[in-house]
Amino acid sequence: MDVQKTPQTTPNEREGSLKTLIIGSGPAGYTAAIYAARADMQPLLISGREPGGQLMLTSDVENWPGEADGIMGPDLMEKLKKQALRFGTEFVSDFVTEVDFSERPFTVKTEDKEYKTETLIIATGASAMWLNIPGEKEFQGKGVSACATCDGFFFRDKKVVVVGGGDSALEEATFITKFASEVVLLVRKGEGEMRASKIMQKRAMEHSKITIMYHTEAKELLGGDVLESVKIVNNQTGEESELKTDGFFVAIGHKPNTSLFKGVLELDDKGYIKHAPNSTETNVEGVFACGDVIDPHYRQAITAAGLGCMAALEAERFLSAQE
Ligand code: NDP
Repeated sequence: MDVQKTPQTTPNEREGSLKTLIIGSGPAGYTAAIYAARADMQPLLISGREPGGQLMLTSDVENWPGEADGIMGPDLMEKLKKQALRFGTEFVSDFVTEVDFSERPFTVKTEDKEYKTETLIIATGASAMWLNIPGEKEFQGKGVSACATCDGFFFRDKKVVVVGGGDSALEEATFITKFASEVVLLVRKGEGEMRASKIMQKRAMEHSKITIMYHTEAKELLGGDVLESVKIVNNQTGEESELKTDGFFVAIGHKPNTSLFKGVLELDDKGYIKHAPNSTETNVEGVFACGDVIDPHYRQAITAAGLGCMAALEAERFLSAQE
């Protein structure tokens, strides 16, 4: 195997600008780092405030190819980090505060330093939106989740509640019926007012395991060691009640982490970074974006990793073309 280790230097010891700098330490960022490091691009990866990204909040990951027995989310991220470091990726625990793409090398400022880089790979991910109600944080991983594809399996023959009225919520509710015995969907709007597509609504309404409660909002999550019930309120009558449940899935949308790039890169109307078709190229030459920050559809660790690989290959080709 042509394993070539790049020199281990600290960013301060490096002369001139970096060949590539990666922002973000989820599956996309680490995969980009593995490919870039093996291509002798000596990448520097800035981890951000939530090193490891969304998988750090997940327990068992059972759909990562190659991990036949499943793997805990944090363990998977540790392995990816180790693999990226093995080939010489420089890992910096810091947070990017400002970018300047007006000329190359680009400038990337963090809370501590300023870097110059010939190419930039953005892998800042997306964050699930939460309700911010009491108990939501406390029961994360103990019944509360924002990802049915990741955690639905653990609710076999159990009762779960899903919150939201968009395509995500209906897709998650329908997905969990494969495992759960009963799914209650809480929608804050009335019947016929849901944002989800008609076909998704029809599928959910006709499903024998799904009950939809309209004009209903979750107020508080209750339990002991694990989640046991949710306090709900009818937002028209004000009537409160308690619903027993084993699981609580929040599916009210995701927010791409792109505030840093507003006015600097082209973003779509939901804030995702615009990119060329079948490519990770952004509207600024030499700046590539990968993972959930460009993907509102699949949002899987493996698709993010695939996009990370694409970004590194494209950055490498861009640099070769420059030379
Ligand atoms: P959306 O923004 O479409 O929907 C969010 C839903 O969450 C709305 O029903 C909204 O209610 C509700 N909501 C937001 N905040 C709260 C809150 N605090 N309390 C209760 N409910 C709340 O997000 P999605 O993630 O569902 O979809 C994002 C995009 O991805 C859409 O374009 C969707 O079509 C697409 N998508 C497509 C899929 C597919 O094609 N298979 C699958 C999943 C997503 P309200 O309407 O009252 O604001």
